[in-house]
Formats: sequence, C-alpha cells, structure tokens
Amino acid sequence: SSNRQSSDALYQDALTHIVGGVNSPSRSFKAVGGGAPVYMERGEGAYFYDVDGNRYIDYLAAYGPIITGHAHPHIHEALVNASLKGLLYGTPHRLEVEFAKKLKQAIPSMDKVRFTNSGTEAVMTTVRVARAYTGRELVVKFSGCYHGHSDLMLIAAGSGPATLGSPDSAGVTKATAKEVITVPFNDIDAYREMMKEWGDQIACVLVEPIVGNFGIVEPKPGFLQAVNDITHEHGALVIYDEVITAFRFTYGSAQQVYGIEPDMTALGKVIGGGLPIGAYGGKAEIMETVAPLGPAYQAGTMAGNPASMATGIACLEVLEQPGVYEKLDALGAKLEAGIREAAEKHDVTITINRLKGALTVYFTDEIVTDYEGAEKSDGEKFGRFFKLMLENGVNLAPSKYEAWFLTTEHTEQDIEETIEAVHRSFAQL
Ligand code: PMP
Repeated sequence: SSNRQSSDALYQDALTHIVGGVNSPSRSFKAVGGGAPVYMERGEGAYFYDVDGNRYIDYLAAYGPIITGHAHPHIHEALVNASLKGLLYGTPHRLEVEFAKKLKQAIPSMDKVRFTNSGTEAVMTTVRVARAYTGRELVVKFSGCYHGHSDLMLIAAGSGPATLGSPDSAGVTKATAKEVITVPFNDIDAYREMMKEWGDQIACVLVEPIVGNFGIVEPKPGFLQAVNDITHEHGALVIYDEVITAFRFTYGSAQQVYGIEPDMTALGKVIGGGLPIGAYGGKAEIMETVAPLGPAYQAGTMAGNPASMATGIACLEVLEQPGVYEKLDALGAKLEAGIREAAEKHDVTITINRLKGALTVYFTDEIVTDYEGAEKSDGEKFGRFFKLMLENGVNLAPSKYEAWFLTTEHTEQDIEETIEAVHRSFAQL
C-alpha cells in the first residue's frame, strides 16, 4: 500500500527468512485476499503506530490478551520490577504462589492450578490428565472451536455430524484422528446421540463455554448444563477451555456467568497481561493425577516464570477495579449500535454477535449459533472491509471468524472515530 512502504519492505525481507513471513499463520493476510501485513512499531493504550508512522485504533488486542490496552503503566511497572530480580529461576518463588491464590479466588472450581507457557500447553495437558484420571482415551470437541495446535486438537469433523474426525493439518496421524469426535456446537441432541454411542470410551469433552474462535457465539439456554449432565452421566470429564473467555466478560470465568462447574479449566491470554502464559486447574482429586503427585507428566523450563506471574497479577489488579466490565459493555454497545446504523445506511447485510466488550461482524443475514452459520459469512467481502478499515485507521484481525476486542483504554471518542471509519468502508464496499 502507498502509505506503508516500510511495512511492505519488512515483509519482503521477512519472506526470505521467516516461513511465510509470519510467526503464526493467523497474522498473514492470506484469508483477506493476500498482501503485506502491517508491521507495528509501538502500541500505546488503544492505539498502534506502524513502522511508517500511521496510527490505528486497535481491536485485535493481540487476539485477546491486551484487554488493558498496550503498554499499560501498571503492567509495565510490574515487568520492570520483576526483570530487576532476574527473569528466570528454575526454582519455586513467591509470585507463583501469590498468582495461584489470586486465580483460584477468581475461579473457585479450580482447587489446584499449574502454570504453563501457552494455552496450547494448558489444553493439551488437561486432556492428558483427563485420560490418566478416567483411564479412557477418546476426546470430544465442538466443530469450529480452536483449542491450540497440539496434534489432538487439530482434528476436524468427519463426514457425519457425530463421527470420528480427520486430520485438520498435515503431519497429524490418522491414528490420532481416530481419538477425537467432533459434534456441532449448540446442538444438544447431536451431543446426546454421540454420547449414547461412545460415552463409555470418552475421557473428556472440551468446551469453549462462549465460543471465541468462529466469532463470539454464546451457548443456547440450557446447552452447557445439558453437556455437563450428559457427560457426567457417562463418567467423562468436562473441560472448559477458557483461554479466550476468562476475564474477558467478567472478573473470573464464563463458567461463573452461567453458573456451571467444569471438572477442569484451561486458561491463557489475558491472565498473562501480554507475556506468554497458560494455566490449568480443577478439582483436587483430578489434579492430583499430575506429577510429582501422580502418574500424568507435565513440565516446563519457563512455566511459572516470575515475569509472566508479575504481569499476570498486575493485569488482574487492573481488571478487579470497579466498573471495568461495565465500561467494556457500554463501549461494546455503542460500537455495535454504530455499526448497525452504518450497515443500514449503506445497505450492507450483516449479523453482529456481541457479548460485552467483544463482538463479531458476520457478512450474512442469518443468525450465527454454530460453525456452519459462521462459515456463511462472506469472506471475500470481509477481506475488502478489513483492508478498507486499515486504510481508515482501524486494525482488526485478518479473519472473518475473529472477534473485535475492546480494551479498558478505548474511549467514546475512539468508538466514534471507528464508527466513522465503518461508514467510509461500507460506502466503498
Ligand atoms: N484455546 C483457545 C480457546 C484459544 O483461543 C487459543 C488461542 N487462540 C488457544 C487455546 C491456544 O492458546 P495459545 O495460542 O496461547 O497456545
């Protein structure tokens, strides 16, 4: 693009040194019609400044973690203080105890927790623990949900609604695919039928209690409770993947929003305040399956490192202030209303799913309650919208399935500017 020469040059350089030019495929512009991604120089509050000096209002929030905005002073201070005492010990230390207590207080279903370095590791380990605890091997997930890039979690649905899966990535074995069953989200009949057939072999079901990976999709009333009840009837465990949802919609987790207790919970993203992190926890009896107490192994050189603990604690300290989630909700409502008005004015067909400070704009006129619905969003149109928004100073995720995330640092003025950018973009669509 004409005003992004430095970005374009960096991308050309990156292509020769980094595979695909990016360190995570979601950062490439492949899904929005190609082209060079934007290279950011600096983040500050709700804003990004790119290497060519352009400013963007940011709704990517690094795919969720940056809920307190970029370079938040309280988190910055915590990181500086931690770094002065040494970045990595390989021994136990005070902050991991403090943070474990703080997390447990916020998410009471976790009697015991263990820190990891990423959401992928956290989820991967919950499955291992569930298998160790139940002595069973099959795993259930809902289609379109993402649970990290471990082999087992890269299995797509098979041909029927409740059949064994097929690898969703080259390099994942057919044998692994036979260990995972995929069913549609929000379809309790399909879930019940599947459990009737496979229930006694199933170790666990992985649930995004509020889906964040084909846009924001809430569970239908009764769905989560039914999943819990049916799963437990068959002696399997319920694992909530709250890597996106924890501390996003309330101080605590989605399980508390719906009043449902899973057996285990996986965490990541927001709880690190921007540094690498993951965590998993659950009922004491289940967690005691983990080494050094039990036979299920999990470890990590960087796990529970002082810097991630310090920024995680600092982030939660910001989020536990009164009014944070009310503010995110109010900003989200204002943004949603503005986008709807712009769509009407410019005759653009959209569906918006919003929960508090997170929303998804689907380019379809159908309501979206599952992956099949989300897939109907017009990807080509989204791609053009995404690029127009960039030209108009708004940074979104380059994927039609991704949410827009508000932060505590967005202001009403930012929302108004964003809505103006939406008007200009819709006018050119
Ligand atoms: N679970 C969910 C629900 C996620 O959204 C993600 C990341 N997008 C992960 C797990 C994996 O987390 P990480 O990228 O930290 O490995």
